[in-house]
Amino acid sequence: MTRILKIALDVPLDTLFDYRAEDVDAEDVGRRVLVSFGRRKMVGMIVALAGHSDYPAAQIKPVLKVFRDTPALSPDILRLLKFCADYYHHPLGEVIFTALPQRLRSDQTSSLFCQTSYVLNETAPQLDDLPARALVKRKLLHQLARGTTTARETLLALSPSAGKYLKEMLAAGWITEQQDSHPKILVPAISGTAPELPTLNPEQAAVIERFASAPAGFSASLLLGITGSGKTEIYLRLTATQLELGRQVLVLVPEINLTPQLEARFQSRFPDVPVVSLHSSLNNSERLHHWLLAQSGQARIVLGTRLSIFTPLPELGLIIVDEEHDSSFKQQDGLRYSARDMAAARAKQRNIPILLGSATPALESYHNALSGRYRLLRLTKRAVEEAQLPTIRCVDMRSEKPDDGLSATLLHALAENLEHGRQSLVFINRRGYAPVLMCNQCGWLAPCLRCSSRLVVHLRERRMRCHHCGHEERIPRACPDCGNPDLAPLGHGTQRLEDSLAQHFPAARILRIDRDSTRRKHALKEMLQEVHEERVDILVGTQILAKGHDFKRLTLVGALNVDGALYSADFRAAERLFAQLMQVAGRAGRAAEPGTVLIQTQFPDHPLFEALRHQDYEAFAKDQLTERKQAGFPPFCHQALLRAEATHLETALLFLRQAKKLAAPNTAEITLYDPVPAPMARLAGRERAQLLVQADSRRDLQNFLQHWNAALMGLKARQVRWSLDVDPLDF
Ligand code: ADP
Ligand code: ZN
Ligand code: ZN
Repeated sequence: MTRILKIALDVPLDTLFDYRAEDVDAEDVGRRVLVSFGRRKMVGMIVALAGHSDYPAAQIKPVLKVFRDTPALSPDILRLLKFCADYYHHPLGEVIFTALPQRLRSDQTSSLFCQTSYVLNETAPQLDDLPARALVKRKLLHQLARGTTTARETLLALSPSAGKYLKEMLAAGWITEQQDSHPKILVPAISGTAPELPTLNPEQAAVIERFASAPAGFSASLLLGITGSGKTEIYLRLTATQLELGRQVLVLVPEINLTPQLEARFQSRFPDVPVVSLHSSLNNSERLHHWLLAQSGQARIVLGTRLSIFTPLPELGLIIVDEEHDSSFKQQDGLRYSARDMAAARAKQRNIPILLGSATPALESYHNALSGRYRLLRLTKRAVEEAQLPTIRCVDMRSEKPDDGLSATLLHALAENLEHGRQSLVFINRRGYAPVLMCNQCGWLAPCLRCSSRLVVHLRERRMRCHHCGHEERIPRACPDCGNPDLAPLGHGTQRLEDSLAQHFPAARILRIDRDSTRRKHALKEMLQEVHEERVDILVGTQILAKGHDFKRLTLVGALNVDGALYSADFRAAERLFAQLMQVAGRAGRAAEPGTVLIQTQFPDHPLFEALRHQDYEAFAKDQLTERKQAGFPPFCHQALLRAEATHLETALLFLRQAKKLAAPNTAEITLYDPVPAPMARLAGRERAQLLVQADSRRDLQNFLQHWNAALMGLKARQVRWSLDVDPLDF
């Protein structure tokens, strides 16, 4: 029977396309198909079957192929993606194809699941026959002996030289290689027995108890717990419960860098449970493989970054979002979704619990907790008894004269720490040598010609770089305006601080960790290893260092250049600064020795620092919420931003003015502001402008956006690229 299929395609059009096919039934909804679209062949997805089409039969083209080698997307994932498309007013086809692994977006599927694995032959030697120093070979044999076949990738993960030894073992006839055309059960790479569980402290026990006693079904909880209070232990316990119930668990983390660490912790707690990770440093085949293992239910725990929220998990029982306040959960281009918010939506759709964890929750989440929409769970003490909270103090920079950025107080503390053989961290959120290059004669500042920003001096490489568009040039010999050869780097970045520290402490081992020094693959991992092995005395770094890492010997943290956020035009700047400083402070004194945090500031009496000194997130958050309420900012209103960019600013503004006019008739509950240039008006050669829309109720805003978006689609806007950003985070 010929059926009409509603097909979603990866095109920026908010519509589904009608095609026909013979042998297709309801089971095929969620499958990928190949169709001709215009002059191209494209992969699409069957979203629904229909009885008839509004188009004449002759115009409806047949589907060229239905991909039955891939399992169909389940109805619940389609529902989630549909919700996402509706909420962000983004074409469903683009949403679907954003969510799929790269391999499933292309029609090159013949070798899709081709996976190499190995079987151990009887001719292979016994483990004990190998010399002890043949470490890698022993590891490989041990792993191979654990299953009938072992995936190549599992083996490669054991050692950087695993590939070389596999080749040798293959040549020696110890193992046989085979190609599998279906993804299959992982043998967990780490073997061993389940570890002994720590006894929960009373606070942890109370959290678990409240979770356990809650009625089944959807619930959202916010776990507010200071760094080191044992939040991860809570995640592990709740995961264990789900695994016993035969459920899968999805854990979202903000950064790829944090996944290996967390993965190791989960894997060692559950040695025989298949755990997979999903993040952008996996290659396409690994990503697909992990995704399919999740979809088939073989992987029981999935750890991943933002995009993994869309992973099909047939037996999903719990979603955990760690560091839920982190802005990397929000995608900043294309489909501008918030993985945290989609996680909440997914939990609701699936009728399962969600747990959001943080030491400094987003004010939106905390507000939800105060208003009773979320359950508030607190961990107020560090889990390891000896581990004390660090002492946080401000260094008053009005009275201190810094020596190349460093106050006498901080220098003194660093010297003392060095004497005692303890580690220190100097935190500055700016990489490079100096943020500006200035001519002392005429005041010229090296600009990025493609952006409204300055070029950052990178003295090591003798270059200047734009941190916004990536533009690079050499440091000029003289001022291009007046010819003065005396050009001076102004302000401080990590490189300059590293130099300055080296001058003050010539004997200290100093390590700089920022995006530049960790660009090489594995660089960060190796550097962290150095820190753990105590081959480093002073760490200099950006926020890369603030997150998650547990340095046992680190007892002093200095924070520089934090004042900008106190007078920023961005109403979220203070919230971000507080979170960042709490996080950096959390690095100090994770173990037995007490830690000290010194913050250099011109505003030591600022309430933000007052709350920080007491590490009192709730006092700070309540304060902020009061301010937000008075000012009418989120979470007390809901926002959307219409962004437009064009070659000329006027074109972008003109488009936004037209857009505003289109909205005029039904704006009783909606506030539309005037179109303005974006704070960063020029980026990579494009001029940008924006229009802010605001409403007290989310529903009003959504209703309005739905109509408005449809009207905008009809606007002729050839010269303009525009997009809607719902719940925008950066302006
Ligand atoms: P968080 O995730 O809140 O930063 P973690 O779960 O990493 O905290 O816990 C911090 C440290 O305390 C870890 O080394 C962890 O093993 C340990 N820990 C957590 N809970 C307990 C407990 N109940 N008893 C002993 N040690 C614990
Ligand atoms: Zn000059
Ligand atoms: Zn630039």
